[in-house]
Amino acid sequence: MKMLIGGQKTDSSDGRTIDVINPANGKFLDTIPMATEEDVQRAVDNAKKGQKEWTAIPLMEREKIIQRFVRLLEEHKKEIIAVCTRECGKHVGTTIFEYNQTASVFTGYMESAKRLDGQLLVPGSEPGHDGRTASDMIMVTHEPLGTVVAIVPFNAPMLLYSYKVAPALAAGNAVIVKPPTDNPLTDIMITELLLEAGVPGNALQIVTGSGSKVGDWLVKNPGVDAVSMTGSTQVGIGIAEIMAKRLAPCTLELGGNDAFIVMPDTDIDKAAASACGARKGNSGQICISSKRFIVHNSVIEEFTEKLVKLVREIEVGYDDNVEEMVEKCLGNTDRTNTKGEFIGSLISERAAKEVEAQVAHTISQGAKLLCGGQRTGAFYMPTVLAGVTKDMDVAKDLEIFGPVWPVIGFDTVEEAIEIANGSRYGLSGCVMTDDWKLGMRVAREVQTGGMVVNDSSVYRNQMQPFGGQKMSGMGNEGLTTLEEMTKIKNIVLKGFLG
Ligand code: NAP
Repeated sequence: MKMLIGGQKTDSSDGRTIDVINPANGKFLDTIPMATEEDVQRAVDNAKKGQKEWTAIPLMEREKIIQRFVRLLEEHKKEIIAVCTRECGKHVGTTIFEYNQTASVFTGYMESAKRLDGQLLVPGSEPGHDGRTASDMIMVTHEPLGTVVAIVPFNAPMLLYSYKVAPALAAGNAVIVKPPTDNPLTDIMITELLLEAGVPGNALQIVTGSGSKVGDWLVKNPGVDAVSMTGSTQVGIGIAEIMAKRLAPCTLELGGNDAFIVMPDTDIDKAAASACGARKGNSGQICISSKRFIVHNSVIEEFTEKLVKLVREIEVGYDDNVEEMVEKCLGNTDRTNTKGEFIGSLISERAAKEVEAQVAHTISQGAKLLCGGQRTGAFYMPTVLAGVTKDMDVAKDLEIFGPVWPVIGFDTVEEAIEIANGSRYGLSGCVMTDDWKLGMRVAREVQTGGMVVNDSSVYRNQMQPFGGQKMSGMGNEGLTTLEEMTKIKNIVLKGFLG
């Protein structure tokens, strides 16, 4: 596939390409251009014009464009789901779960944009006015940020593209997308459909190539007004440092090591099932997957036994008959990746090797392997680690992005909270208890952007502001946070009222 620069399908100016491979079976899928700095500059120059072209279209017309896009998305549904499944090596059911949310993220943000009103501060009706300003009118307006770069990670290329591109466009910005290099094809397809629906080719562009080069050129380009990035904390810090030098805003949704706390009063069957599901989805490659299982010592044996039984039942594999699977799964009304569905590969053999090394490291620190622990190519077997103590790396800052359940014991509520907070991350978390007061106490005291009481942390509703505390990010995504894609400006009409 090609990049989309200025509305044109474009090769790299030096003709270089990168292969896109299905990680589950190693089959070649396509190539993408490896953009040069010159290509990046062209996209940034176009975006400046594109932002004006986009906002010159009345909001109601822009809404029609998004509605047309939603229809196109539906028409190309099977093709998109098949491409995404192949380039991620995952189960079709997981892709459908992602696809099903994409359209409503776009329509939801467009709807919210209609309520992105300015404000008029009229003397006499606003407490802020005093005698000096009694004859002045103050207009508070929201302006688009300008050109927003949307940097998308590999783990949910469709949904996380939507959470970035939809609000940025809805707020009147031009957007340049930098998709993940391992699986960029779905993002290119969606961009093509948005352009076909009527978004001007200068207002939405996609440039491909490695993050450390193409992503870096974009972030450093003074023509870029804001960056919205989801990915690792390490890359996020680098982006924040660069943006800080020109005091430009960035929204960062970064890594996590979410705690799953099991209190002794909870139903252990329910807790084990929730814990299993929380880590199984997308082969454990979800930012808000529960990643540390902090269990009261009085129930740890029962919990671990039940968890291991469920984890051993997880099937790992990949079905090459993707089109057939798409037909079958689209007919299935259960949209979740539940029992009976296998989990696919990780995004690459490189990623699976990293999980393998992280598990080996944790075992070398004293953890005991109860099941799993094997890797074949990009596949990693679901793995439960017992005997994990709070001083081990995995109990603190080692984020494992794969199907691994480290189980850590605790004796008191204070200790559970201390372990949960003993991480540099603060993305999300959960507590399983029948005691709502206790649940509330834990939810308030654990330092994260979100907490779930009585189910896993894998919870994201489009209406909620979504973001992390501590090293898990800056800013929020969600329908209520459209304002982050704008800047506020005051216009004072001095003496306007006489
Ligand atoms: P990553 O390596 O940080 O990559 C994320 C994106 O950043 C990719 O598009 C990547 O491009 C690009 N990139 C890499 N280096 C860059 C640079 N120097 N400048 C600009 N862009 C650069 O993360 P990942 O491995 O894809 O994703 C896994 C991580 O994301 C995990 O830590 C996970 O917890 C986190 N995550 C967080 C959330 C959240 O909402 N908080 C959601 C999902 C994932 P290339 O693909 O070309 O390297």
